Amino acid sequence: MNIHTQCYDQSSPQPPPPSGWEKKISACAQPRWWHRSWMGYLVGLPLVVLALLGDLLWEYWLPQLSYFRTPLFLLVVVVVALFWGARPALFVVALSALLLDYFVLSPSGTGFYIGDGIVQLITFIVSGSVLAVLAAQREMARRRALVAEREAQAYAQALQQKNIELEQGNRLKDRFLSVVSHELKTPVTSISGYAQLLSRRLSKQAGLSPEQDTAQPLLEKIREQTGHITVLADELFDLTRIHSGNMRLRCAPRDFIEICRRVVEDQQQISGRPIELLAPSTPLLVNADDERLRRVVTNLISNALKYSAEDTPVEVRLGSEGEHVVLSVRDFGQGIPEYQQEHVFEAFYRSPSAQNSSRPGLGLGLAICKEIVEQHQGRLWLESEVGKGSLFVVELPKL
Ligand code: ADP
Repeated sequence: MNIHTQCYDQSSPQPPPPSGWEKKISACAQPRWWHRSWMGYLVGLPLVVLALLGDLLWEYWLPQLSYFRTPLFLLVVVVVALFWGARPALFVVALSALLLDYFVLSPSGTGFYIGDGIVQLITFIVSGSVLAVLAAQREMARRRALVAEREAQAYAQALQQKNIELEQGNRLKDRFLSVVSHELKTPVTSISGYAQLLSRRLSKQAGLSPEQDTAQPLLEKIREQTGHITVLADELFDLTRIHSGNMRLRCAPRDFIEICRRVVEDQQQISGRPIELLAPSTPLLVNADDERLRRVVTNLISNALKYSAEDTPVEVRLGSEGEHVVLSVRDFGQGIPEYQQEHVFEAFYRSPSAQNSSRPGLGLGLAICKEIVEQHQGRLWLESEVGKGSLFVVELPKL
């Protein structure tokens, strides 16, 4: 169910990352002490010496392969590049070149030498440097991917935690709304009942004083206002039931025309405005929850009355199209701009003009109507043009 508890006239920035997330990321992005580059220089030195010893032993045992003297040094370069990066590896290349020149290439056994072996030395320096850079880059890319993966994991974990908290908050909010709307309705219904009783008694009394005469319109106001509060409480209660998935329909075959006729009569009486009902003479049967469907029709008609001028008509038309029964409620009011049309069915949405007017409402009616109609396997949509009015259409499967 798509009910968003969000007001669309406020800009909604991206939510900030959950707290605690940055700490986890910086912790996993920090290299361990043995991975720092100074360790590369420290470890590189003995490894190069080991490579030299290995090389001298190689020459001793395999003199026939002594024309190729550098594999052990290259191995050290690769190891240092993979663990500590390009700089310590290039240091190893330089150090190895010096040792190679001094101990290996020199015809006298020791001492710096510039001669035939220089080609082998240059080849070693070039290939060692290329290997150092390539291996270090590859390792860097692997580590970056690892950090990114850990970042994603930490972020997902933090989001999951936030989601749990949000769900708990949401449940608490629904519970709160449900209790408030229920507790609000009971006293308000009593107030309305007493006002009605008092009004009836006053109207039966003859010879009322001028003060008692003024009480009648005030009692009428009390009934009107308590009526608004009851509608709001009902809407809040329904919303919480929709959120918790507890809105169960009690469906039975109903005549849609009869439901609409009763609502039209009520709304005419409450508003004192004429409402035109155009319906076929034969019943239009639907499988529906009487109370809920009345709610939908009431909401659409009361909105049509609420958002149009007193002297404009409201039309309620019923008919059947193929496998469907169709109800349309038309008003000739201000209409709804196109950019607002997609939002009017969202919970708590009220157009800026509705917010700034004295018309009561929470912006829940249409969201609840849509949910009820969809639970009846039907559709609810609107067509509207600014300045010309709006048409709300309900389509339900025919019985
Ligand atoms: P409410 O009427 O309590 O504000 P609704 O959910 O019934 O809440 O309607 C949502 C919004 O859609 C209204 O605030 C209003 O801006 C707009 N709206 C609904 N019906 C009409 C209508 N017939 N004409 C113009 N605007 C309408």
